[in-house]
Amino acid sequence: MNTDWQLRTADGVDCFEYSPDPRLVLAFFTRRGGVSRGPYESLNTSFAVGDEDRNVEENLTRIRHALQLPAIQTMKQTHSDTVLTIAGGPVLAETLIGDACITGQAGMGLGLKVADCLPVYVYAENSSCIGIAHCGWRGTAAKLAEKTAREMSRHFSVPLSSLRFALGPCICPNCYEVGADVRSEFSREFANADAFFTRSETPKAQTSQNRDGTAERPDPALDPLSPRSLDPFPKYRLDLRAANRWLLMKLGLLETRSIALCTYEDGRLFYSARRDQVTGRNLAVIALR
Ligand SMILES: [Zn+2]
Repeated sequence: MNTDWQLRTADGVDCFEYSPDPRLVLAFFTRRGGVSRGPYESLNTSFAVGDEDRNVEENLTRIRHALQLPAIQTMKQTHSDTVLTIAGGPVLAETLIGDACITGQAGMGLGLKVADCLPVYVYAENSSCIGIAHCGWRGTAAKLAEKTAREMSRHFSVPLSSLRFALGPCICPNCYEVGADVRSEFSREFANADAFFTRSETPKAQTSQNRDGTAERPDPALDPLSPRSLDPFPKYRLDLRAANRWLLMKLGLLETRSIALCTYEDGRLFYSARRDQVTGRNLAVIALR
């Protein structure tokens, strides 16, 4: 039982793990210890990024063994605000379209694939139910973490005040520039949107330079965090953790332990879609034993 996040090696894979209760585990797998090669090296968990299926399958098997879980349910993530309730299963990930899921079932891990987006872990104080939410800018603006907590409260009849949350690694505000369109979307949804944005005076280069030295714009199809339109100015820096923390604390949830590491800054441990564009996905998992 780890009362704070610890990096450990299990069955050859490295993961951060936090176990606030012997029946409950929160994990974030690094990219180390898998079999994928090239830009996906090595513990890629997504079938949808161009990696070989058999490598992803082997990686997911290693992750299940590391956590000693019979099954981990993942979803086809689309940056939606859909919260799924998982019971029975597991079923093919491609048949479940959603960006958050909840369960009260022991032995069924809930997995989320991320490369810069924030994984929000939610659990009941008495470990009766768990949930996980995929919070990039779209999920955050759609208040997906709040919807997940409300759905857990409703479905499992637990008061919101008995729910706890923890935040995993994600891209930090120093590294995460967005356009004015994202800023204005938050303004519509959050009265205090100013608290999560800072104006970016010297825009950060988001991609490699072309041979002529001009900056190449990222392909929005490859970058799940990319705004819909890529207006060059003005730019803002968005703090995903601050926005989700504010949402959940306002709801009465207590934050326990979160990880402050930035996925963009540490290429040894983390995939970053913003940094590398063609890359793998780390897996965040929450499970009841
Ligand atoms: Zn950073």
